[in-house]
Amino acid sequence: MSRVPFICGNWKMHNTIGEAVELIDGLVPRIEALSGVEVGIAPTFTALHAVSKRIGGSKLRLSAQNVHFESQGAYTGEISVAMLKDVGCVYSLVGHSERRTLFGETNESCAKKVGALVAGGLLPIYCVGETLEQRDANQTLAVVSEQLAVGLSALDAAQAKNVVVAYEPVWAIGTGRTASPEQAQEVHAHLRSQLAEKFGKDVADAVRIQYGGSMKPANAKELLSQPDIDGGLIGGAALKADSFAEICAAAS
Ligand code: PEP
Repeated sequence: MSRVPFICGNWKMHNTIGEAVELIDGLVPRIEALSGVEVGIAPTFTALHAVSKRIGGSKLRLSAQNVHFESQGAYTGEISVAMLKDVGCVYSLVGHSERRTLFGETNESCAKKVGALVAGGLLPIYCVGETLEQRDANQTLAVVSEQLAVGLSALDAAQAKNVVVAYEPVWAIGTGRTASPEQAQEVHAHLRSQLAEKFGKDVADAVRIQYGGSMKPANAKELLSQPDIDGGLIGGAALKADSFAEICAAAS
């Protein structure tokens, strides 16, 4: 089964509205001609509207970096699925390691967010990954298995088919240290077999599993050539149109 690779840029807490629009204007002409790859970007909430308008009918897809699981109400500072849909988002990240580590997100809260997104017609990019201590203690597969099992627990097979999973070893995010293609492939294959066990082979064959963690033009091709690596979630290298477009080209 062939999966269309999906490269998504996570801008984190970078870019004012003006900077965001400038980056989009640099990016769109560089990626428009690429085929065989889906490209997304996840700006900050404040830039979503301007970016949404700017990407218009281009092939760029809009993602949020986070979402709240309740539909509305007294949740100061939070953003609902319907609001993300309203502004033009197709995806939202869920459970990025920075949110887990710095903002107390748990597998259980991620499961609620994944469920709310799917129920509301948006697609989750669900992030999993182990810390360095966990890898050194040989706990990698157990940790990501638990994250995957709980995070997707609210979904049936038809819903799970459209979810994107991002494997992001925490020790590789923003550190310049990348998992080797073999290390990443081992975890991706494990996640896919777990998806097959829970949801069936069709679903496992359809779900895109991105790699994230210091992916850049110099290492993208090798990582993306692994059979179970179906794209990338890109932090630092997504902040420059040239480097992000080069990674997209490597996937196309
Ligand atoms: C990320 O934050 O999802 C990420 C992969 O960051 P970086 O590419 O900078 O490691």
